[in-house]
Amino acid sequence: MNSIVSAQLPLKVNRRALTTWFAVQGTSIQPGDDILIVPENRDPKAELKLFEYWVGVVQEIRGKSKARKDTFIIILWYLSKHSTKPSAETTDDWAALGDLELLESNWEAVIDPLTIQSKAEVIKYCDTDLREGHFDAETFYTRFSYDVTTGRITFPEIELCLCNQRYNPDTLPMALCVECQTWYHTACLIENGHVDNDKVSQNLRDTAFERLLIEGSRTYRELEVDEEDYDEVPDSVLELARSRIVRGLSKYTIVGNADSVLGARKFVKATLETGTPIPRTWMADLLLNDESLKTEVENEDPFTICPKCQGII
Ligand SMILES: [Zn+2]
Ligand SMILES: [Zn+2]
Repeated sequence: MNSIVSAQLPLKVNRRALTTWFAVQGTSIQPGDDILIVPENRDPKAELKLFEYWVGVVQEIRGKSKARKDTFIIILWYLSKHSTKPSAETTDDWAALGDLELLESNWEAVIDPLTIQSKAEVIKYCDTDLREGHFDAETFYTRFSYDVTTGRITFPEIELCLCNQRYNPDTLPMALCVECQTWYHTACLIENGHVDNDKVSQNLRDTAFERLLIEGSRTYRELEVDEEDYDEVPDSVLELARSRIVRGLSKYTIVGNADSVLGARKFVKATLETGTPIPRTWMADLLLNDESLKTEVENEDPFTICPKCQGII
């Protein structure tokens, strides 16, 4: 079966938009919708794994008549590591992509509506935003875009790890140097000897972690705190607030724990600075439960040192 019909069809010639939606198995498909498309030469009735489908975003629905055979869907493709073979010089770029990761693109095609399997869910995820919420690891997501004219992926300008590789959510976990906002693979830091072997006490480190990266936190960082001031803070909140900020599906989650760690740090800050009690609903407020809380706390890897700013990671 042939999904792409653009070869036979002149685009936007002798065709007019007759409809603003198209029904697939009772679901209305409209411009802006992400859709799963049955790949060429695959049986539309066969059960495919999610990553095997092609994915596009509907731009326009056009037809010469209301008949289905006369209707065509104009889409922009999403590309994935499964649908695209990188060239020799772009192999490193594509190595950053996770299994269910898609690239938005400016690559247009016209498809036969009969090749649409269903609507698709594609989560937009910004991996430089520490306040991103979690999403299901069984869902398509997109962080970067692909420019069909240059054949390159567009990445944000960020400082890379020592290995020069970007964050691939499915492979090595990364930890954040909060001081200079650089992410490193913990394995790369250890391999290169950036391990903290000095005698800084665990307590000092914990307090330093807990006080990092809270908006308007200058007074909090300089606040004198007695151990007793922590009496009102439940251990589990403190443990989360003092956790390292990490991400990576092999050990944590795709988005990582930044949002909940920063949330816990805010609660602790409010208690120590102004005596505001930790809300009884703190776990729900941070969208956590007993089970997910366990995966958010990270204190097991050895302490490492940022090669750039010497901050503790
Ligand atoms: Zn690395
Ligand atoms: Zn640093």
